[in-house]
Amino acid sequence: MKFFVRSAVLSRIRSSLNLKRLILFLAISATIVTFLNSFYSSYHVQKQQLKVQALKNNSAYAAKLVSVADSALRLAQQQLAFSADVIAENFADPHKVAHEAKRLRLQTNSFNSTVVVDKDAFILTASPASLQITGEQLNSVGAKQALEYKKPIISEPYISIANNLVIFISHPLFTEDNQYLGYVGGTMYLKEPSILSDILQQHFHQDGSYLYVIDKNQRLLYHPDKQRIGEQVFGNAVIEAVLKGNRGTQEIVTDDNVILLAGYAPLQVAPWGIVTERSLTSTLAPLDGLMIKVLLYTAPIGLATVIFIWVLARLIARPLQQLADTAKTLELPSTPADLKRVRSWYFESSALRLAMLKGVGVLQNQIGLLKHEAQTDPLTELNNRRSLEIHLKQLTEHHCKFSVLAIDIDHFKHVNDQFGHDIGDTVLQSLAAIIMSVIRESDFAARTGGEEFIIISPNVIASQAFQLAERLRIKVANTVIEPVGYINISIGIAGWPMAELTVEDVLKRADQALYEAKKTGRNRCVLEQTYGEAATH
Ligand code: GH3
Ligand code: MG
Ligand code: MG
Repeated sequence: MKFFVRSAVLSRIRSSLNLKRLILFLAISATIVTFLNSFYSSYHVQKQQLKVQALKNNSAYAAKLVSVADSALRLAQQQLAFSADVIAENFADPHKVAHEAKRLRLQTNSFNSTVVVDKDAFILTASPASLQITGEQLNSVGAKQALEYKKPIISEPYISIANNLVIFISHPLFTEDNQYLGYVGGTMYLKEPSILSDILQQHFHQDGSYLYVIDKNQRLLYHPDKQRIGEQVFGNAVIEAVLKGNRGTQEIVTDDNVILLAGYAPLQVAPWGIVTERSLTSTLAPLDGLMIKVLLYTAPIGLATVIFIWVLARLIARPLQQLADTAKTLELPSTPADLKRVRSWYFESSALRLAMLKGVGVLQNQIGLLKHEAQTDPLTELNNRRSLEIHLKQLTEHHCKFSVLAIDIDHFKHVNDQFGHDIGDTVLQSLAAIIMSVIRESDFAARTGGEEFIIISPNVIASQAFQLAERLRIKVANTVIEPVGYINISIGIAGWPMAELTVEDVLKRADQALYEAKKTGRNRCVLEQTYGEAATH
């Protein structure tokens, strides 16, 4: 059962698979694969290029920002150095010291605030005055470092006395004879607008990239998200790399699976690093549009290719399809003509057509031969009973009226007895020849039994049929058949249609008339009674 179901499914699949579909499938799938492949590889190449370019850009950008930040810090240090000289010279004059501190803060925008501190960490003056810290003792990280090292210092970030997250840049104050007086320093607020944020914000990209500055303790000195400034960041490979003093690029994956393309460079003036980052998604965003464009540009060519393939597949498959269709009816007489009409425009199909034409010729000859044999009486070459049946069927189907002449040789047994069976056979052949010489082309003659013959004469009335029978009878009676001499025949005649009788009935009626002829003396023709009456009326 299973097998039948499977074979039914298989044959359904097989019948839906034809050459045209196969060629189409092959060619279109090859086209699509090629198309997808080139689409994919161009996407891949573009993606790689964009990535490499973005990494390069970020690295160059980080390096540029580093040089700007370095310059700004150096400038701040130079300003402090200059002011340190002025303040040391006028250290005894608080007014001048305060004036210089104020000038230092206001003349450029390097510092958010400035202070002058003596060697015991007491604030001599602070600008802006609104800070109200003059006279207080400073013990911040920056202050301690300045006093301890007695040299120019850029501090780590810390919370200032005025509660700001700051970095402190200081320069020592020495008298001409090298006595340490204290230091002058300027703060840069990290969370407020400062020269640092000015520089970095100026360069802030609008394309999804951002940057941050990190100090040697992995603390954020600058970040576009202000909240994060001051935060320490651990376990970040880029930060670790830049703090080692390296410059370069890296692709990193964040905890929430965002891929970032980072460029980084270390500062020279301070132990800090600048990192610029851009997400891969925003880097590749232009690619989507680009790929849609590629699709749009290639679509018409792709469509044209498919149409071209479709037309070609039809052209290639057509002659083979026609040959296959013709092969289903090789026995039909129209097949050779059909084959000649097939336009075999390429070698294989024309070779196939030629082979089929040859094959069909042979086949049809064989069929003709077999048909002839099947429908012919071998002794007399007349039609046989089978052929008679076919002929009668055709006539009745076409409603063609006809007469039936049933013929029987008189006393044929005597011929056989006297001359032998073989001579009897030649007599049968001679009679067949006489029959053929008498009938019209449209008439039909068959040998239906041993020495019994039937003639079917279409489109004649009873009297014409009778005349034909008489002509035949007389001709036979007057013909010498060697070595037998003269023979006679008797003929019974009936016709179709006759009083709703079937063809078989009509044949029987003809036989009855023949019997009548035998009974009434032989060598005569007898019209079946009803048929004869119809003729006389
Ligand atoms: P009638 O028809 O006049 O009554 O007499 P008949 O002697 O012809 O009788 P019937 O038609 O019954 O006999 C037919 C004979 O024809 C019998 C058989 O010997 C002979 N016959 C039948 N077929 C063949 C054949 O193929 N060859 C030969 N030589 N003789 C045949
Ligand atoms: Mg007989
Ligand atoms: Mg007979």
